[in-house]
Amino acid sequence: MNIINIIDKKRLNKELTKEEIDFFISEYTKGAIPDYQASALLMAICINGMNAREIVDFTMSMVHSGDMLDLSDISDNIVDKHSTGGVGDKVTLIVMPIIASLGIPVAKMSGRGLGITGGTIDKLESIPGYNVNLSLEQCKENVKQHGISVIAQTGDLAPADKKIYALRDVTATVQSIPLIASSIMSKKIAAGANHIVLDVTCGKGAFMKDISMAKQLAETMIEIGKLANRDTRCVITAMDQPLGYAIGNTLEVIEAINFLKGDMPEDLKEVILEIGSEMLKVCGIGEDIENNKKLILDSINSGKAFDKFKELVIAQGGDVSYIEDTSKFEKATYQLEFKATQNGYIKEIDSYQIGEYCMNLGAGRKRKEDSINHKVGIILKKKIGDYVEIGETLAIVHTDDENINLDELNEAYIISAEVVEKPKVILN
Ligand code: URA
Repeated sequence: MNIINIIDKKRLNKELTKEEIDFFISEYTKGAIPDYQASALLMAICINGMNAREIVDFTMSMVHSGDMLDLSDISDNIVDKHSTGGVGDKVTLIVMPIIASLGIPVAKMSGRGLGITGGTIDKLESIPGYNVNLSLEQCKENVKQHGISVIAQTGDLAPADKKIYALRDVTATVQSIPLIASSIMSKKIAAGANHIVLDVTCGKGAFMKDISMAKQLAETMIEIGKLANRDTRCVITAMDQPLGYAIGNTLEVIEAINFLKGDMPEDLKEVILEIGSEMLKVCGIGEDIENNKKLILDSINSGKAFDKFKELVIAQGGDVSYIEDTSKFEKATYQLEFKATQNGYIKEIDSYQIGEYCMNLGAGRKRKEDSINHKVGIILKKKIGDYVEIGETLAIVHTDDENINLDELNEAYIISAEVVEKPKVILN
């Protein structure tokens, strides 16, 4: 088999066989196909797509590129969640301890930031000592003992996706429903949970810009889950403006901690209740979503969810004193106020522009090898629908560079003289 013929076939929009897909995945994973040929094939897939059979073969080939975590001796009721990515998306940090506190074991393999979107692993690494690189055995042991583990994608689980994901990030080949669906589902299937709840984000700061694309991605992932015998549900959530008020790694961890202590921004609360209730439902806790939401709020109000988060941090080597007292987190050198220059209602806070601004502050990577600055980011003071007056603070920029250009943030905002309604958060 020859990789050039495979690239050429996809360039001509022809269907790849299972053998061709397996050849590409296994040879690229072991380094026998160089990045330039893999990039060419990924770009051809981005442009010409793949049919349902090719997507399933691509996914299963990535699953079989490494080990599969077998959690069946812990429970046959293990739930995992994944987001297709967003700005200010700290849902995993909050929802996983909530679900674990309700007695459902959770095992999660998370990613780093991709493009302008943040990643749970980068956020968790803001906590001094937190070890994201547990072995699969340690991860499993933690799920047994504490009911929860959140780790980075280890070299052993879906290694093909790990390599392809990093290449896509720097070759403009992220934006593809077949590639996103197979990337997410390969990780979820390899990680061993039998129930999967997916947060499909939709809007300016998401990979899926409109609802029809989001629905198509959701249907594709549900179909893959069915064929792999995994109960898969999707919730479509809005990502036109950032979720919650904090964007940036440490800042988001602090917002997540405050949420678990009962300080819940409205849009973030809606997403947590919806995703969390779906997770409880798939695990057979209850069909009644409203009752599930009540269980989640009880877990927060009783302090159980916060205690479970602390247990997770301790179990993975993190310094829990930072969780108990968030003023211990190191702050960026400067906190600069970005102010409104006109009166009116906020109509838009473009999450793509905000994500890009934060990436330029150092919160995300431009190249694979870049290190990130955990302290920097933005705290929004107002959200869409809020009224503001000239001179009022719209956001506080946390930065180590005194000379950054705050005016660039104006591009993210539209302020209107007319009243603006708060946007819907759950879109399906
Ligand atoms: N998240 C993933 O894990 N993979 C993608 O391709 C996009 C978002």
